[in-house]
Amino acid sequence: MGEVISPVSGAAIAEVASASVAEVDAAVARAAAAYEEWRNVAPGDRARLLRRFAAEVDAHLEELAQLEVRNSGHTVGNARWEAGNVRDVLGYYAGAPERLTGRQIPVPGGLDVTFHEPLGVVGVIVPWNFPMPIAGWGLAPALAAGNTVVLKPAELTPLTALRLAELALDAGLPEGVFTVLPGQGGVVGERFVTHPAVRKICFTGSTEVGTRIMAGAANQVKRVTLELGGKSANIVFADADVAKAAATAPSAVFDNAGQDCCARSRILVQRQVYDRFLELLEPAVRAFRVEDPARETAEMGPLISAAHRDRVAGYVDGATVAFTGSRPDGPGFWYAPTVLLADSPADRHWREEIFGPVVSVLPFDDEADAVRLANDTEYGLSGSIWTRDVGRAVRVARGVEAGNLSVNSHSSVRYWTPFGGMKRSGLGRELGPDALHAFTDVKNVFIGTEE
Ligand code: NAD
Repeated sequence: MGEVISPVSGAAIAEVASASVAEVDAAVARAAAAYEEWRNVAPGDRARLLRRFAAEVDAHLEELAQLEVRNSGHTVGNARWEAGNVRDVLGYYAGAPERLTGRQIPVPGGLDVTFHEPLGVVGVIVPWNFPMPIAGWGLAPALAAGNTVVLKPAELTPLTALRLAELALDAGLPEGVFTVLPGQGGVVGERFVTHPAVRKICFTGSTEVGTRIMAGAANQVKRVTLELGGKSANIVFADADVAKAAATAPSAVFDNAGQDCCARSRILVQRQVYDRFLELLEPAVRAFRVEDPARETAEMGPLISAAHRDRVAGYVDGATVAFTGSRPDGPGFWYAPTVLLADSPADRHWREEIFGPVVSVLPFDDEADAVRLANDTEYGLSGSIWTRDVGRAVRVARGVEAGNLSVNSHSSVRYWTPFGGMKRSGLGRELGPDALHAFTDVKNVFIGTEE
């Protein structure tokens, strides 16, 4: 049994049983049996079931959102978006079963065709920072392509995933097609990696655990998609709308209390506007509303746990604090938004993923310097570029080694465009038109036509 703690109150709100290795094996056996049927469900019927699942999520959107506010401390506005994202991702991939077409390739003496075959049982492993969307990004394309799914939520945040599994059954998905198995990473997650019937791991989490999963998967040449850490740059050039860049910088890093793999946690500012940018940033940070996440006005809630808050605070000790925002008193794992000045790119807070509401600021001289500093990291997930010069925007976007960049904006995730990391931020892409193929293997069939 594991206690589920609310990060808002620090109190236990539920008990969830952790699955054992034997329970995982039994669930994988059921998923493997269900796969034989599910892969043969007619494309139109599979599509209809996924649309029904999306409709169930939509009908329970507010309930799911409130559950996430309690379990994860997400602001209610964010939590509604997250539940809506599961609905939309299901809806998007519900369009896939009838469109999963192969090719016909001209060959002499016969007909050559390709099929996108499902893999079998897919293991989805989810972190605690976005429990609903990340579950949806794995399970929806996997199911649409004809696989069955076993999903392990993070130890701290199992409640919405468990509810999604109930909604899938209510929508009419057959038993065993989508199973949620709460439990320890080292037990349930490891067993997904070692179980021969699990044919692919779709993992989102830390680079450390992702590296270990990739090594384990190699033993069985098991497919992997990895969405890992980030330390993304927000690059502000002197020719930009500096006021807008400063006004939007707080939400680009403090949203979800900075517990976001895409957080723009390194701000690079061209030297001639560095002082002005900081002057404009300060009131925006002070105005950032950190409060009970159930309030409609909340822009940021607490951190996920007391241990995580201690970890975040460890990065601020001894660093140069420019200014901070506010935080409520009382129980809950609160941490005020904090802006640090980097003395050099060697600073620990500049290099490591803090995964909290802490941002580091550093000046740069010219375009080449900006690209060099942005790329001076093992990560490559996301980033933003602020400039009014179109040519520069394109040059820098091509120069920065990251999978998802935005110009004069901080947007990075749309369910119909690809998402994923370069370098040690990950492998493969989720969402968009290509993710489906990550849950299939291509089969080539030649049919001889010679008499
Ligand atoms: P984590 O790596 O500690 O855990 C992620 C999941 O893996 C959890 O469900 C955990 O139980 C499981 N796990 C732990 N050990 C395991 C093992 N040995 N085998 C199999 N599974 C195991 O990460 P976290 O602290 O939950 O999440 C934060 C991290 O996730 C950050 O680094 C963040 O950047 C990353 N993240 C990346 C993306 C992305 O899309 N790139 C999105 C969200 C979060």
